[in-house]
Amino acid sequence: MAVSPSLAVAAPRSGPVTSLHVVSDENYPPYLFRNAEGQVEGYLVDLWQLWATRNHVKLTLTATNWAEAQKMIARGDADVIDMIYRTPARESLYDFSAPYADLPVAIYTDTSIGGISGVTTLKGFQIGVQDGDACIERLQSNGIATLQNYRNYTDLIAAAQRQEIKVFCLDEVPANFYLYKAKAQGDFRKAFELYKGQFHRAVRKGNLDTLRLVEEGMKSITTKEEAALRKKWFGAPVDLGEYRAYAGWGLLGLLSVGSLLLLWNMTLRRQVSAKTTTLKQTLAELKAAHQAVKDAKESLAATLQAIPDLLFEFDAEGRYLDVFANQETLLAASKASLIGKNVGAVLPAEASRQVLVAIEHALATGSDYGRVIELEIGGQRRWFELSATRKAGTSPEARVLVLSRDITQRRETEQALQQARDDALLAERDRHFRALFTAAPVAVLYTRANVADSINQRFIDLFGYREEDIANLDEWWLRAYPDPGYRQWVMSTWQSAVDRAASTGGKVQSLEYRVTCKDGTTRDLLIGGQIFGDGFIATFTDITPLRETEAALKDAKDAADAANIAKSEFLANMSHEIRTPMNAILGYAYTLKRTPLQPEQIGRLGKIEDAGRHLLAIINDILDISKIEAGKLVLEHTSFQPGTIIDYVHALIADGAEAKGLHLTVDYHDLPDTLQGDPTRLRQALLNLASNAVKFTEAGSIALLASTLESDDSSALVRFEVRDTGIGIAPASQRDLFQPFKQVDASTTRRYGGTGLGLAITQRLARLMGGDAGVVSAPGAGSTFWFTARLGIGELPAPGPALTGATAEENIRHLHAGARVLLVEDDLVNQEVALELLGDTGLQVDVAANGRLAVDRAADTDYALILMDMQMPEMGGLEATALIRTLPRHRATPIIAMTANAFDEDRQRCLQSGMNDFVAKPVDPDLLFTTLARWLSAPG
Ligand code: ADP
Repeated sequence: MAVSPSLAVAAPRSGPVTSLHVVSDENYPPYLFRNAEGQVEGYLVDLWQLWATRNHVKLTLTATNWAEAQKMIARGDADVIDMIYRTPARESLYDFSAPYADLPVAIYTDTSIGGISGVTTLKGFQIGVQDGDACIERLQSNGIATLQNYRNYTDLIAAAQRQEIKVFCLDEVPANFYLYKAKAQGDFRKAFELYKGQFHRAVRKGNLDTLRLVEEGMKSITTKEEAALRKKWFGAPVDLGEYRAYAGWGLLGLLSVGSLLLLWNMTLRRQVSAKTTTLKQTLAELKAAHQAVKDAKESLAATLQAIPDLLFEFDAEGRYLDVFANQETLLAASKASLIGKNVGAVLPAEASRQVLVAIEHALATGSDYGRVIELEIGGQRRWFELSATRKAGTSPEARVLVLSRDITQRRETEQALQQARDDALLAERDRHFRALFTAAPVAVLYTRANVADSINQRFIDLFGYREEDIANLDEWWLRAYPDPGYRQWVMSTWQSAVDRAASTGGKVQSLEYRVTCKDGTTRDLLIGGQIFGDGFIATFTDITPLRETEAALKDAKDAADAANIAKSEFLANMSHEIRTPMNAILGYAYTLKRTPLQPEQIGRLGKIEDAGRHLLAIINDILDISKIEAGKLVLEHTSFQPGTIIDYVHALIADGAEAKGLHLTVDYHDLPDTLQGDPTRLRQALLNLASNAVKFTEAGSIALLASTLESDDSSALVRFEVRDTGIGIAPASQRDLFQPFKQVDASTTRRYGGTGLGLAITQRLARLMGGDAGVVSAPGAGSTFWFTARLGIGELPAPGPALTGATAEENIRHLHAGARVLLVEDDLVNQEVALELLGDTGLQVDVAANGRLAVDRAADTDYALILMDMQMPEMGGLEATALIRTLPRHRATPIIAMTANAFDEDRQRCLQSGMNDFVAKPVDPDLLFTTLARWLSAPG
């Protein structure tokens, strides 16, 4: 903003110009400047005021920055510009007055810079100038274009103090003033005088009237008046005579009275003395300031000298601006070559990345500590720890100081320490593993190059051998396997296991060997191991106790097997021994019934038969369950019609049910006509359920049901069911019913007889047939017992209609009367029973009391059929059959076993010895007749 002190004297004058606007630089003491209060004063203020008064022109004097002053003229806002140098470029813009003062213009530099002595030495420097200053033109015309403009001298010097510029251009007169004011005289010095300028007043080009007015007006100011002004502002009259030739001035002075001269002289002296005092004081201050700066610099230098670290100054991009290093050998490159380079171009990638991160972090947060970089310097690996700090200061560009501390030694010490720690740990671990090795519960031997390298305590405990006993492995082989043959075998099997392991990861599969210990005892061991480096770890697992237990178990099993065999033999014997008398009882009952008897006798005979059959059923059940439990029951696989099974069971229980007034129904309508399986066992299972139903039902009904649950091309799952309305069973009792010998009521006072085997047999048979058995029942609500069986589907040729017993006996009588039959039987009673049974058939029966006699008889007689007992003195039935078969005449004679050895195995053995069929004792007469009829008619 322009300041317009009211200088005008309002006295209009004839003529065109009544007011004048003068503009000039506010920065040019003592010509024109602003004082501490900001008010404009100076030589020109007084001069122009005098001019205005003299010329009766209203005057405005604007003091502003120099560039603005020139713009005001260009815009026409002001009429006259003062303190202007005449330059070629300005010729076209202004008309100039005559010069009225000489002003030296100089180049100033920072005291740290030397060698600046002429315009040409300025090349490459940034040079500070004031906006609009004539020196700009002068410098440019000398080819210096790197100029940095500032608004005024104050800003310019401040920038120089901030080190923004180190070289600048100033008019000398105000320069001293401003440098002094900024207390910066010591920091800068005048390098050389650029040129000498001359002050003019000027008007816009062509405005010659105004120029003339100004110049004429200036002439109205007397030399004396001007001298007074000069004295006031410059302290002494200078260089005026050169331009203003007031010839009488000197003369006038000379002619003045001596006292005036004296007075003036005294005044001058006073002024000089005052000035000198001020100057001395200023000089002392200056010296003190200079000394302080010097001390500070020396102190800083000493401090830096004392720091062993490297100090770098970077800009934000990581460019080296300054480097300080006491030990230049630690620098990655020479100090001079670093300046101006980017860290990325100097350090390896990772290190420069760390530096850049530190710079970035310091710029963002003020500081960054603790990053470590690794460099190779002079062929040696070194580590540096970085501390980065944002540099405080007035520079608009961000700078970061990075202190780089060589921590190589610390690092190396740390590493050595770590190494020592690791070694200690390793040693400790080694001790630990040695302890583990020694204490391992498995015997271990580590061998290398045929030498037993180490063995553990367990090894010593187990075998008694110590390291010295088997130092050489050959020693081990000899002592552990003293028998040469066994040793040979052990060594060859072991070697091939090791060879195998070498090609499959090194693990040797355990092998079992018997090792001889130092005390001569032997132990069973599993020996395995692992190839380990150039050695081998063998592990020995003692399985002696295991083998002993195994042996004990085997003995126990053998004993159990023997007991089982004994039991089976006992059962077979018992069966045989019971069946033999039963044969007599039932046989005689049968034949007796055929004789004329009293009704009472017929009834008693019937009871004898019932009791006999009951007893037989019990024996059969006991034999069945023991066979099933021994896994010896073999199922038949033949075609049968399931309906006949149900019908058969129905027929068997019909009388009993009727006797109790029970309603009996049957339903099997969705069963296939033909199935394959074991019809005898199915019948047995169903009969067990059905007879229980009759036994435990007092009133109501019984239903026999059979249905197909699922079926495919080859098989069907068939369910058989017996429902009754009997006493029912409580849930708690149902679980155990299918266990052998279990009954709901096991008390001695129970109402119902039975052995508790029926359900157990039924369920086991069902399971053997791929099904199961179960019950649904509640006390008082009756029971439904069921079982399922998986049976084959497919038509096998069904056997032709069987002859019934009666028809068979008749058939024999008609077709085979007189045929010769040999009965081989040792037991006299059973001989008699058989003869009686066969009595009505018309067959001619010879009897042989043992196998040997039978063979003798058969040797010279053609028999149509032989009935053969199994167990006989002298020679049993199997042996006799085999011998008879060697006789040419009996190669095809039907031989039928008739024996109390009623087991399946017995049947098999008979067939294997050469017999054709089998009838068990007690003999069922009907079965005997149908069998005889079939074989007598058989083509042979
Ligand atoms: P037993 O009939 O010879 O005792 P079972 O194994 O056939 O042997 O039967 C075991 C027990 O199951 C019988 O003693 C009886 O308590 C019970 N039980 C079997 N069937 C029925 C039924 N239909 N109603 C009620 N209880 C039954």
